[in-house]
Amino acid sequence: MKKRAGKSVSAAYARFRAAYDKNRSLGLCVSGDGRKVPSPKNALCATCASSKRKNRSKRLAEGRCLACNQIHDGSGVKCNDCKQRHLAFRFGLSVEECKSLFAESKCSVCDSKDVMLVIDHDHDNGAIRGVICKQCNIALGGARDNVETLRRLIEYLSDPPAQRIIGRVAVKRYVGPGRGVKRHEGARSKVRKKRENK
Ligand SMILES: [Zn+2]
Ligand SMILES: [Zn+2]
Ligand SMILES: [Zn+2]
Repeated sequence: MKKRAGKSVSAAYARFRAAYDKNRSLGLCVSGDGRKVPSPKNALCATCASSKRKNRSKRLAEGRCLACNQIHDGSGVKCNDCKQRHLAFRFGLSVEECKSLFAESKCSVCDSKDVMLVIDHDHDNGAIRGVICKQCNIALGGARDNVETLRRLIEYLSDPPAQRIIGRVAVKRYVGPGRGVKRHEGARSKVRKKRENK
């Protein structure tokens, strides 16, 4: 259960929450209809869960946003405004701040456009660092955000130790069923190829 630490909640919400918690602890449907829930995992009885599902499908079929109930023409279960609000909220930003971070619609590290962009944050303190592409975000995660590791990766790429140790460039072969033995032709991921063609 999420604590709303330091936030005052409305009296109506407090009443709703108290009833919810009470029903939950008694193993009853939180809608307050007095029915038992099918398992400790469920918060709703089978009847309420089914009508909730039906209501959800109906609203989706009508093209309504599940958050604000307005009919929208975007894709997904939420309208674009609600998606933005939710994203901004999750990262502790105002909607305006969030928009300005995405304004350039490119990765702050590799400048890629037309790729999936994510909001990157410092895992130690949660501080938002910037908007970067998924691949750069994975690279940072792989290096565990460690500046020294990243520096050493550059050194490693600039002077691959295997070449020093064996005194030549050995090239990886692709060996697989039905493929025979193929020499490496500089296979690169689709994303990297796409980027380098820009
Ligand atoms: Zn119920
Ligand atoms: Zn909405
Ligand atoms: Zn990038």
